[in-house]
Order: sequence, then structure tokens, then C-alpha cells
Amino acid sequence: MWKEAEQKEIRALARRFLEEAKGVLPEYEAKEAFPWPLVRRMAELGLFGVFVPEGLGGAGLDFWAYLALLEEMGGYGSLRSILSVQQSLVLSPLLAYGTEAQKARYVPPLARGEVLGAFCLTEPEAGSDAASLRTRAHRDGDGYVLEGQKTFISHGNVAEVFLVFAKTDPEKGAKGITAFLVERKDGVRSTPLKGKLGLRAADTGMVFLDGVWVPKDRVLGEEGMGFRIALSTLDTGRISLAAGSVGISQKALEIALAHVKERKQFGKPLAAFQLVQATLAEMKAELEASRLLTYQAAAKKLSGARYTLEASLAKLFASEAANRNAYRAIQLLGGYGFFEEYEAARLYRDARVATLYEGTNEIQKLIIGAELTGLRAFS
Ligand SMILES: Cc1cc2nc3c(=O)[nH]c(=O)nc-3n(C[C@H](O)[C@H](O)[C@H](O)COP(=O)(O)OP(=O)(O)OC[C@H]3O[C@@H](n4cnc5c(N)ncnc54)[C@H](O)[C@@H]3O)c2cc1C
Repeated sequence: MWKEAEQKEIRALARRFLEEAKGVLPEYEAKEAFPWPLVRRMAELGLFGVFVPEGLGGAGLDFWAYLALLEEMGGYGSLRSILSVQQSLVLSPLLAYGTEAQKARYVPPLARGEVLGAFCLTEPEAGSDAASLRTRAHRDGDGYVLEGQKTFISHGNVAEVFLVFAKTDPEKGAKGITAFLVERKDGVRSTPLKGKLGLRAADTGMVFLDGVWVPKDRVLGEEGMGFRIALSTLDTGRISLAAGSVGISQKALEIALAHVKERKQFGKPLAAFQLVQATLAEMKAELEASRLLTYQAAAKKLSGARYTLEASLAKLFASEAANRNAYRAIQLLGGYGFFEEYEAARLYRDARVATLYEGTNEIQKLIIGAELTGLRAFS
């Protein structure tokens, strides 16, 4: 059900928070430092467990409220990414596949933002071809020993809980992958990956599992179900990323509009020129199309039907549109757009990764192609 009041409330809450945060965030972005004080503030405001039931430490709102939050936060990519990794990539699979005991142990601290979680699929040799991952989990007594490396892991250095995908039965390929809940104190090591083009205040790291033992009750779902869990998690993640991309397009349009109304050239506000209006019209059209594709995917998900096609369409279009709109915002700002102070530069840098992660846009096209033709061009 569409709850207008709930969405308005969470949007207003996010805007109030961003008024506080936007003066502070640039320092962290400049230093590539993780913005712990802002993370703690988001936790206090209840932004980490939006769709998690109240009984499990969440806000008990719905998926629409979560998407509204991500749209509002989208213009501040590092913060948006922190919220979506925690909720789409960690809490969502825990709620969907966790046992009661796993939910009781992990969901409340994650939903309250007291600890952070990470989703560990990608490896140095396994990116788009995630099923070729090499991390192994061997049976050992009452548990498993995990051995392997993960790369490009968001929250890799700041998380306490890791959802790790490892092969329990390599002979079976994708069907031999199992998902594990691993804690940092089990012996996970990590190292930061610095020098990102965008999302500079968000943490990214390499995660090392050097003989990490976990008890068998840390398997999420069942043995061999890991790849299915990863793919369904990414379907949800793609809708969230599309919502974040809508936020980038929205913010780009706001920045551009404010500037062209204010700035005069040739004796008139820039906004009065037809070419400027044409650019604004393109921005608005692509923004609204992105939003509709995102909402279409969310509606399909909430109907209980399979929504892989809709999630990929939304991610593909909204992420490309966000890049075009950030570019257009800089163009409309002229030389001012090239400076960090005007925020369009950050949007431009942050937008770039949206076509790469949670499945590159080429992979989205292959997924869409497979949905349309029934023929998979990749395994
Ligand atoms: C900032 C950041 C954060 C990330 N966070 C996480 C995270 O939290 N957890 C996680 O597990 N991963 C994470 N990732 C990893 C991300 O999901 C991968 O980078 C992505 O899946 C692409 O894999 P790759 O980088 O190895 O590129 P590759 O797979 O090597 O792709 C390189 C190029 O080849 C193209 N290509 C590959 N296969 C095909 C094909 N069959 N047909 C046509 N073109 C193809 C790709 O589209 C791309 O253009 C993150 C990445 C970044 C940059």
C-alpha cells in the first residue's frame, strides 16, 4: 500500500539531516575518511532499518519509504551507499533467508546502525562472472573453514558482519555456492582500497578469509543456495541503486535550475534561453522516466512476482540517466560546475560507479536480453 504521509515524513527527516550533514561531509570526502559521526547520527534517526519490523529493531516502515529515503540521500552518494549496503545487501537477505536465531542475533544491531554489515561476492578473478568465485568453505567438525579473498567490498574495513559467498562444492558450479554469516571477530582481515573517483567518504576494502572457522549455524539459507541468495539480493539492490540514481538526477536538476534562474548572460537569465530550457526538459524527462521504472520494479517486487527484468531495466536506465544529468548540470553551470563548491562535480563523480556495480550495465543488458529471448548470452 502507498503510504503518502510516511514517505513525506521520511523525506523531510532526510532533508533535515542533510542540512546538518552537507557542511561536514566534504571534509570526509576530501580525506577519503569514513564519516563515523554522520553514520551515528543516521543511526540515531533510525535510517538503517527502515523496512525492518519494529520488533527486530527497525522503523517498521515499508519498501516505498525506503526508496523515498534513498532518493533524498541520492545527491550525497557516500551516505546513500552506506544506507543501501546495510539495508539492501545485508538486512534484506537476512530477513528473507535467516533462521529465527540468525535474525535475533544479527538484525537488531544492524537495523539500529550499531554495527555495519558487508556483502562479499566479488573477488579479484570473479567480477561479472561471479559464479566463478574461488573462495572455498571446507567442512570442519561442526562448522566450516573459509579460505579466500574478496575485493571492492563496501564497508570492508568498517563492518562487523560479513555475508560471504563461498564454494562448498566446486564441482557443482553456481549450485555449489553457499552464503555464510561471518563476524569480524571470527578472524576476518581487511585492507582499505583508496583513490576512488567518487563515493569518496564510503569505505571500500579487500577482505581476507585466511582459514576462518564458523559454526554450521552460520549458513544463510541452505548449503548450495548461495548464488540464488546473491542474485535475489542483487535484484533488490538494483532497485535501491536506481532510487539513488533518481536522487542524483533530482539533485542535478535542482542545482541546474537554481543556477540558470540566477545567472544572467546577454542581459537575461540563462533560464530564458531555449537551448537551456531544452537541456532542463531532457533532464526532467529522464528523471521522471527513471523514477517510474524504479517504482515499476518496486511494485512488481512487492506483488510477490519475479522482478528481475524490471530491476535491471530500472538500474540500467536510471544509472545512465544520472550520469547524463550530472554532466548536463555541470554544463549549465559553466565554469562554476567544475568546482566542488557547487556540488555538481561531486554528483558527476558519484554517478559514475552506478553503471559499474551491482552488475555492470552490460550485464544488465544481457539479463534483459535473456528475459526477452529466453536465451542467455552468458552463463
Ligand atoms: C565502489 C565499488 C563498490 C563495490 N561494492 C561491492 C560490494 O559491496 N560487494 C561486492 O561483492 N562487490 C562490490 N563491488 C564490485 C562490483 O560489483 C564489480 O566491480 C562489478 O560487478 C564488475 O566486476 P569487475 O569490476 O570485476 O569487472 P569485469 O567483470 O572484469 O568487467 C569489465 C568490463 O567487461 C564487461 N563484461 C564482462 N563480462 C561481459 C560479458 N559477458 N559481455 C559483455 N561485457 C562483459 C563489463 O561489463 C565491464 O565493462 C563494488 C565495486 C565498486 C567499484
